[in-house]
Amino acid sequence: MTVAAILATKGNAVLTVDQGSSLKEIISILAEKRIGAVIVKKGDGSVCGIISERDIVQEMHEKGSSALSSTVSDCMTSNVISCTRSSTINEVMEIMTSNRFRHMPVIEKGKLEGIISIGDVVKEKIKQAERDAEDMRNYIAAS
Ligand code: AMP
Repeated sequence: MTVAAILATKGNAVLTVDQGSSLKEIISILAEKRIGAVIVKKGDGSVCGIISERDIVQEMHEKGSSALSSTVSDCMTSNVISCTRSSTINEVMEIMTSNRFRHMPVIEKGKLEGIISIGDVVKEKIKQAERDAEDMRNYIAAS
């Protein structure tokens, strides 16, 4: 099972922001869209970072309420680890677990093609387990 299968269900929409946006703006986006992270893009459209709710908590812990006027570039992660449409769900799960993060952009030849969260991966794993159990029940019933 690959990332492409998840994208086929959830779609390719990815919310992106500019690195000069304030944390106040990012908090509104995360709250209104009910998401945990957004991808940061440069003016030329290339991905230059990711900012998640965890980065915002850390910035607020360090700077208090003045963190609201910090910019995305002050606290985003620049070294973004991405996957491709052909990455398997097990590969993505392994990378997320070992790096302790819950979001991965899907980038194909430099182009942002979607985003996968740990929730998408778990949902797909549950569907897969249910399909396996159903196949096993059918196999037993037929034998
Ligand atoms: P998350 O678990 O996604 O809320 O992110 C936890 C931390 O990992 C935050 O500092 C994020 O900026 C960072 N992070 C999230 N996703 C990625 C990724 N795909 N590549 C690199 N860092 C990430």
